[in-house]
Amino acid sequence: MIQVFQSEVLNAEMANDSVKLLKLSVPENFQFKAGQYVSVSIPLDGKKYRKPYSIASSPEKEHAIELCIKIIEGSHTTNYIYGLQKGGKVELFGPAGKFVIEKDSLDKDLVFVAVGTGITPFRSMINHLLKNGFKKRIILIKGFRTEKNLLYDEEFSKIADRHGNFEFCNILSRPKNPAFENKGYVQDFLQKYLPENFSGHVYICGLSPMINAVNEKLSSMGVQKERIFHEKYD
Ligand SMILES: Cc1cc2nc3c(=O)[nH]c(=O)nc-3n(C[C@H](O)[C@H](O)[C@H](O)COP(=O)(O)OP(=O)(O)OC[C@H]3O[C@@H](n4cnc5c(N)ncnc54)[C@H](O)[C@@H]3O)c2cc1C
Repeated sequence: MIQVFQSEVLNAEMANDSVKLLKLSVPENFQFKAGQYVSVSIPLDGKKYRKPYSIASSPEKEHAIELCIKIIEGSHTTNYIYGLQKGGKVELFGPAGKFVIEKDSLDKDLVFVAVGTGITPFRSMINHLLKNGFKKRIILIKGFRTEKNLLYDEEFSKIADRHGNFEFCNILSRPKNPAFENKGYVQDFLQKYLPENFSGHVYICGLSPMINAVNEKLSSMGVQKERIFHEKYD
């Protein structure tokens, strides 16, 4: 059920130059499915605007949710988010959204493809699946601009150490290290990272151009539309 509530900022930090991580309080009866979002109320020029942000934490975390938000230059919306500090208050609406793990996916190998903060719902979904004993393979293909834009990298490394069925790779469009192997865009690495004879499901999250490019590539590789699920941020 969608709720409207005042939330307290329990923690606020920058993951890098342009991504803010927030931990926010939620009411005791707040329940969501991995992949859903909340909307943040943004006060601007005497009006309130609602902006959706995927929940980065898994539903098992109680009384708090985490968000991971790209601070966009010139955006009043994300300028407000940038200013949020520990102890501050923010109005939230949620949970909402249908981008959740499909029932049919639970007995299949899964591939998650994200660019930038598109990783957010997948952090929630992957943690949720693994905490609940998911045994099929999970492959996370995540794209960023440079090494310093990587998100949750150490955390995913630790998850991969603990769970033999989880693996991830980073694709960088402009790596600083000239020897970096996976230079390019996520769609260019699907062939490399999708298992042979892949018959599972693919989840994609990010901006439209990337989602369209990944869909086209998957289609050329024979992955039918019914096996692909996406969330567009724009
Ligand atoms: C369901 C849903 C969930 C979302 N979850 C997240 C999230 O977890 N984290 C997050 O950072 N954003 C997320 N977004 C995007 C977010 O809601 C806003 O669109 C974004 O903060 C920009 O807001 P804006 O008011 O500046 O301008 P908007 O008019 O909303 O967007 C302006 C432009 O910013 C670009 N943009 C939007 N999002 C991003 C992004 N993440 N990275 C780079 N460019 C972007 C788009 O090209 C868009 O045309 C989500 C969007 C949707 C629909």
